[in-house]
Parts: sequence; structure tokens; C-alpha cells
Amino acid sequence: MINRRQFGQLIAGAAFGSQAAEALAAPAVARAKPRIVVVGGGAGGGTVAHIVKRQAPDTNVTVIEKRAIYTSCFNSNHVFGGFRTFQSLQHGYDGLRKIGIDVVTGQADAIDRPQKRVRLSDGSAIAYDYLVLSPGISYRFDAIGGYSAEVANTVMPHAWTAGPQTQLLMAQLEAMDDGGVVVMTVPKNPYKCPPGPYERACMIAHYLKTHKPRSKLLLFDAKPYFSKQAAFEEAFRKYYDGIIDLNLTNEIDDNNVVRVDPKEMTVETASGLKVRGAVVNVIPPQTAGQVAIDAGCADASGWCPIQPQNFMSAQAEGIYVIGDATIANDMPKSAYSANSHGRVVAGDILAAINGDRAVPARYRNTCWSLIAEADTIKIGADYEPGQRDGKPYLQARDAFVSLPGESAQLRRRNYDESLAWYHDIIAEALNDRTALMRQL
Ligand SMILES: Cc1cc2nc3c(=O)[nH]c(=O)nc-3n(C[C@H](O)[C@H](O)[C@H](O)COP(=O)(O)OP(=O)(O)OC[C@H]3O[C@@H](n4cnc5c(N)ncnc54)[C@H](O)[C@@H]3O)c2cc1C
Repeated sequence: MINRRQFGQLIAGAAFGSQAAEALAAPAVARAKPRIVVVGGGAGGGTVAHIVKRQAPDTNVTVIEKRAIYTSCFNSNHVFGGFRTFQSLQHGYDGLRKIGIDVVTGQADAIDRPQKRVRLSDGSAIAYDYLVLSPGISYRFDAIGGYSAEVANTVMPHAWTAGPQTQLLMAQLEAMDDGGVVVMTVPKNPYKCPPGPYERACMIAHYLKTHKPRSKLLLFDAKPYFSKQAAFEEAFRKYYDGIIDLNLTNEIDDNNVVRVDPKEMTVETASGLKVRGAVVNVIPPQTAGQVAIDAGCADASGWCPIQPQNFMSAQAEGIYVIGDATIANDMPKSAYSANSHGRVVAGDILAAINGDRAVPARYRNTCWSLIAEADTIKIGADYEPGQRDGKPYLQARDAFVSLPGESAQLRRRNYDESLAWYHDIIAEALNDRTALMRQL
């Protein structure tokens, strides 16, 4: 290190070109390492942290993550069908730590925007120059009478956050008598992973078909249409005829589940229909992760609107919000989307750090759903910032969706693609390259 006087002497005494002088003048700037803090070490947050640290090793990147182990929701339905183990969904944070990212196991409770600090539940605080929130979703337990976090943890798991509830739901299916009824309830849009409930229906039905063929799955959906519907309905008929009973509604609120009774194991819809299940899987309505709401990023819908060109919050200046917590116009909530947001945000932060212009944002999503052994359907699109009704809007381009009647060969190719994608996203978000080996 040289001080200002020595620097002056150097300039005076040597034939330095102006570029060299500038380079020597730089230490004052370089000394202040940019501090990037990411809340949530999942599909979105892990991606930002990993890319920024790799591209700019001389930054301080911190991930605040409340769980010591990440259990991926994506592919967690496969556990019910017997197509992968629960353990294969679990990934630690050593990969991120290994490249110098500070992964703090703790809960971010509040964002102090004026002071640019994140406050944790243990009372500590972490200062930031750039803040990214990727906390995923929280559940609106109060939307369903009789339902609560406690009921979900013990009796009627939602299993919409992969973890102990995934194991509980699987154990309940295994303990159920052949001939038992499984009830599953699906909320209105928007929620995390639009096709997820129907993939789950296929996976549970596959388990019933192969282990408890006299059993049934009753599906109550609060809406008339759903993602990849034609291909899913074909799968219900082709593979699970007589097992899956799909109840959609054209009436507002008709099949919306308004009440559950965990003692009686019943579910009650807005139309007054009451059904009992041996196993009850309630997927409740959702909102953005609480920390994003508390930071002022959410609107009245409970989700976080963003600026399409870089996923800066449209509500709270100076905070990036990505992943499931956002409401991103045409773009659905998926891990692929969260990863795509994360790439753009990492680019935006790197451009700001380097004083470059950010490249125009382009996003992509594909959601694969396993419907039977090696039979996978998919939906996806590219997304680009545009305008609608005079307002910024993230719009879909070149959308595609699997259709009924496709060949087994094409579906197997989709399946292989989905395995490769799982490997790639875990590698990019968590710097863990063992995912493919572990799932095979
Ligand atoms: C059954 C199911 C199947 C799915 N299948 C697919 C699929 O096939 N393909 C696909 O693309 N997507 C799928 N998804 C959706 C996918 O899991 C999510 O869209 C994705 O994980 C979103 O990434 P995220 O970063 O927004 O949130 P997450 O990956 O959920 O990460 C959020 C992280 O933030 C942490 N966190 C939250 N609040 C705090 C806090 N206050 N302090 C510290 N840490 C906090 C959480 O512990 C969590 O680790 C599926 C989802 C489900 C439920």
C-alpha cells in the first residue's frame, strides 16, 4: 500500500502515463469491497451469490439462509412415485462456502433500508451495498378454517416446502390401508409451481396403482383451468383411470377449500361439500416470503411487483426481489424462473460494480412434470421486458407446451432433459455438482 504523499512522489519522479497513474490512484476505491447480501439460499438467491462471487472474487458475498440444508421442492413429487429418494433432494452449502461466500445460518427478520442493514433474529445485523431478497413463499394458513402450521406439520401436510412434511406425507401414504382415500386440495393462482399439484397427483396415483390399487385420489381444485391441462388429463385417463377423481370448478369459489377438521380428517369446500380422507394433503394459498412483505416490497396482493428490466422492487427502492416472492406478469413461479431472475440480477450487480452498462434482460422458464415412468411433459417460454397498457410488463415469447398423443420417445427425451436441468440448477445455485450422480 502507498499513501497519498508517496503516490505524489512516484508521479513526480517517474515517467508514468496517465493510465498507470489512474491504476495507482484506484486503491481508495478498490479497498471498499462491495458487500452483496442475499436473503434466501435457494434456487434464486444461490444463483445470484454464486455468479457474483465467481465473476468478482474480490467482493464480500453473504447468503443469509435459515436452514442448514436446502431440500429442493423441485423434483420432490418424484419421491411419492418412488422415482427418487428424499435424500437426493438435499444439498448443503459447502459448495458456496468453498468459493468464499459467507453462508450465515440464520433468519433475516427485518431490512433497515436507510442504514442498509439486514437484521437477524439473533439480534445481529449485516450491512450491504447490494441487497437481494429471494425468500420464496409463505403460507396463508388463515385462509382455511381449522388449518394452521401445527396441523400441517402433524396431521394434514401441505408438503409444499420440501422437508419433513414430504416425509410425513409419504409415511401417511405408506401407512394407509389399500382402499383408503387420499384428498388433495389445490389453491387458486398464483402459487409456487403452477403444474406441481398435478404432477403430485400423478406421482401419488402411481404409488397407489403399484401399492394400493383399491385406493383413490380425490383432487379438489379451486379453479377451472390449470397448467399443461390437456396432457395431464390424458395422463389421468391413460395411466390412472379409476384412481384419480379430478374436481374442477367453473363457479367462483365452488371447490375452494374453506375449512378442514384435522380430528375428523375432513375437508369442506365453499359449496358445502364435505369429504373425508385417510390422507389429506392441503396446499394452502400463499404470499411472498414474510421478510419481503415486511421490507415493503409486496403490494396488496401479498406478492412483490418488480421492474422487468432487472428485478428491482417496484415498491421498495434499492432492493432486488427475485423468485417465488415476486409477481412477474407472464412469468410463473418456478425454480427455473428464479434461476433466470438470479442470472439477470447477478449481471446487473456486476455491471454496477464494474461501472458497465447492464446487458438487456432476457429470461426463460421451463417446467417439466413427471407423469409416469420416464414420461415427462413440459411447458415454457422466453420472457422479455415490454409494455402493456402503458406500464412496464414482462411478456412471454415463443411459448411451448406438451400435448396429448406425443410419442414415448419424445417424452423420454423430456425426462432426460429434466434430469440434466436438475443437475445444472443445483450446480449453479449451490455449487454442488453431485446431483445427477445422486439421483441415478
Ligand atoms: C412440489 C413442488 C414441485 C416443484 N417442481 C418444480 C419443477 O419441476 N421445476 C421448477 O422449476 N420448479 C419447481 N417447483 C418450484 C420451485 O421449488 C420454486 O419455484 C423455487 O424453489 C423458487 O426459488 P426461490 O429462490 O424463490 O425460493 P426457494 O428455493 O424456496 O428458496 C428460498 C429460501 O429462502 C429461505 N428463507 C426464507 N425466508 C428467510 C429468511 N427470513 N431468512 C433466511 N432465509 C429465509 C428458505 O429457507 C429457502 O431456502 C416446485 C415446487 C413444489 C412445491
